Amino acid sequence: MTLIVVMEHQASQGAVDALIARLREMGFDTHLSVGVERTIIGAIGPKRPEYIQQLGAMAGVDRIVPILQPFKLAGREFHAEGTAVQVGAVTIGAEPLVVMAGPCAVEGEEQLLKIAREIKSAGAHMLRGGAFKPRTSPYSFQGLEEEGLRILALAREQTGLPVVTEVVNPRDVELVAQYADMLQIGARNMQNFTLLKEVGKTQKPVLLKRGLSATVEEWLMAAEYIISGGNEDVVLCERGIRTYETETRNTLDLSAVPAIKHYSHLPVIVDPSHGTGRWRYVTPMARAAVAAGADGLMVEVHSEPEKALSDGAQSLTPKNFQQLIEEVEKIAEAIGRDARQNVIGVQVNETQ
Ligand code: PEP
Ligand code: MN
Repeated sequence: MTLIVVMEHQASQGAVDALIARLREMGFDTHLSVGVERTIIGAIGPKRPEYIQQLGAMAGVDRIVPILQPFKLAGREFHAEGTAVQVGAVTIGAEPLVVMAGPCAVEGEEQLLKIAREIKSAGAHMLRGGAFKPRTSPYSFQGLEEEGLRILALAREQTGLPVVTEVVNPRDVELVAQYADMLQIGARNMQNFTLLKEVGKTQKPVLLKRGLSATVEEWLMAAEYIISGGNEDVVLCERGIRTYETETRNTLDLSAVPAIKHYSHLPVIVDPSHGTGRWRYVTPMARAAVAAGADGLMVEVHSEPEKALSDGAQSLTPKNFQQLIEEVEKIAEAIGRDARQNVIGVQVNETQ
C-alpha cells in the first residue's frame, strides 16, 4: 500500500527520524519531502491496514493518507468501469432505473400476492418482503420465516418479479438462497462478518444495506468481505443513518450516492422508506435519490398501511406508489436514465 504521512507543523527532527525508522522497519520505502509549512513522507510498502493506525499513533504525526483504498475489490481503483448486477431478468447498475417494492414483512399469502400484483402494475421491477424480520423489540412480529419464503416464491411465479428478501442468520443463508433471487443483508447486520462471509460463498446477488452508524468506508469494507469471499454480485443500499434529528426515523444520506460512485464500481440504490420513516417524505426523497444518481430504489408498499404488522407509517399505498413511479420516471428521463425504456419492466412482462 501507498501512504502519505503528514507531520504536524511543529514536529521535531527526532519525530521525523523515528517515523522514518519505523516505516523502514515495517518494510516501507520512504520519500521525504520537507516543505516550508510541513514535512511529508511518502511510503510504499506492505498491505497491512493495522500499520496505518500504528503510524498514526506516533509522536509528531498529523495524519496518514492511504493512497490505495483499503477496499480493493469493491474500489474503483481495482475496477474503473461501473458494475452491473443481474438479478433474474433485471439488471441493476445499467442505465435504466430499478425499483424494488413490497411490504416490510410478508404477513400472509393473500396480503403478499395482492401487493405483488399492485406494485407490478404500477411499474416495479422487483418484489421485496421480509420473511425473517430483525425487529428492535423481541415482542414485535418476527416474520413468517420459511412459510414467508414460500409465499415470496409463489408471488414470483405469479408476477415474474424477482424477489429480494433478508437473511439474518448465517445458518439460514442456504435456505433463503433456495427461494430468493437476491439476498438482503439488513442494516443491523452490515458488520455481521460471519453472515457476510456466508453470503460470499453463495452465487446469489446480495443487497447490502448500510449500517445505522456505518461510514461509507465501513460499508465498502463490508462489501469487500462478500466479494473477497467469491461473490462479486453486490449492490449497496443507502437507507439512512442515525443522527440527532428525530423528525425522520433516520437521516437519509444522499451524499453517500456520489461518494459510492466515486470510490466504488458497485451499483447503489436508495431506500427512502427506512430512510425517512414517514410515507409523506418517501416520494420527495425518492426523486432526490434518482437525481443524485442512484441506480434504483427500494420502497415499502402496503395495500392497507394502517393494518401493516410492521412499518405501516412509512409504507406507501399502491396508489401513492404509482405516483412515485410517475415522478421518478420524469427525473430519470431528465438525467438520461429513461425508466420507461427500462429493460426489466419490458422483459419481465414479455417473458411471462
Ligand atoms: C428492510 O428493508 O426490511 C429492513 C429491515 O431495513 P433496514 O435493514 O435498512 O433497517
Ligand atoms: Mn421495514
